[in-house]
Amino acid sequence: MAMTIMKRVKFSAGHRLYKHGGKCEFFHGHNYIAEFFVTASEVDEVGRLIDFAELKRAFKGWIDEHWDHGFLLAADDSNAINAIKQVVPCKYYELPYNPTAENMARYLLNDVCPKVLEQFSDYQVRATKVLIWETEDSCAEASLDQKVGEEEVPWQVAQVEHWQRQ
Ligand SMILES: [Zn+2]
Repeated sequence: MAMTIMKRVKFSAGHRLYKHGGKCEFFHGHNYIAEFFVTASEVDEVGRLIDFAELKRAFKGWIDEHWDHGFLLAADDSNAINAIKQVVPCKYYELPYNPTAENMARYLLNDVCPKVLEQFSDYQVRATKVLIWETEDSCAEASLDQKVGEEEVPWQVAQVEHWQRQ
């Protein structure tokens, strides 16, 4: 039986949506919430999928190091990247696509979670869903197409849903 737990991580970051054509193309920021859903089919001898404190250390550690209080920018947005480099010190992170909530959720699920969870290979946990809340009314979800326990899930396959675009 698959069981799932969720860890929530709050962070602040700046971004802009390259070629958006509207106000989202200006530099601005959000107080984001990321929700990481981790699934396994067995609990340990204590009755846990994995200790919440361990998940917090892993996910919050990655977010704090790479995204919190930094700028998220598309790798092909050289205009914004050159601009942000003028600020000393500066912190920015290049994504392979525009830093929308959908793409941030997809990137965390496909690229970050497998690496971050490698250290917990004893627990057989895997990330199956990531939500990014951009405002309290808007959130995007990336989730694996299949549930654990069914056929092997390719990490690179994610579907992105989006609700309540403002
Ligand atoms: Zn924004």
